[in-house]
Amino acid sequence: MYDTTRWCAGPCMNGARRKVRQYEEAKTVYLAALAAWHTPLLYPARPESPRFQPVYGEPVYDPACIYALKAKMSKLDGAACVYAQQADGHRAQKQGGRVSGSNTRASLSPTVEDLDEFDGWLRDWRATYLRIDTQARQGGLADSISIGCAWLVARSERILRHPDLALGFGQEINRWHALLVTHDPSDVVVHRKDLRCDWCRGQTLEWRPGDDSVRCRRPNCGRVLRLDEYNEQVDDQVKAS
Ligand SMILES: [Zn+2]
Ligand SMILES: [Zn+2]
Repeated sequence: MYDTTRWCAGPCMNGARRKVRQYEEAKTVYLAALAAWHTPLLYPARPESPRFQPVYGEPVYDPACIYALKAKMSKLDGAACVYAQQADGHRAQKQGGRVSGSNTRASLSPTVEDLDEFDGWLRDWRATYLRIDTQARQGGLADSISIGCAWLVARSERILRHPDLALGFGQEINRWHALLVTHDPSDVVVHRKDLRCDWCRGQTLEWRPGDDSVRCRRPNCGRVLRLDEYNEQVDDQVKAS
């Protein structure tokens, strides 16, 4: 009964998607109870239909989610740089402590593999956009990433409005953002949330952009709730007041 396929595929509708899922489950339980009903007066309670304001995709994401994804995309170049520097620092440290004569062959570090894959991802999207085969890397890895990011950032809005390409592109931006940007300490901005923690009742809930959960900063509380759960609590409080 809810046509969720036309909703924005971004996080703005996560809370509503969950409400609909819970409602559908409750309805199945209700219908089964109704079919088995035989005790007068104990008539099964019909679940209430969920309330929310649908945000529709245009055609996949709504403008706000497109904007947020483009902002994430534009951070990937700098984040990849920091990611690479950290790997270098780590390697230098390790080599300093190593006994000479060790015959361990230096293999490609996992970080370089990640960045190599990231560069491949950038080149794949460029090829998809231009409808050509993926081109081999030109020049060094760092340069290729910078050029690839700049190229894709300039076209990301168009891809995020494309009916067939938007969803995959958006999900992959999130994946790369989660991998690369967690390594960038300059990016960590903590937002204090308005609602009180539902465990310790403190004004202690925090959220970091890009994170899908809200955490209580009181160490002996440890409450972690999903962002959509938190937003649902906000909704409930608005409704209650
Ligand atoms: Zn959205
Ligand atoms: Zn707490």
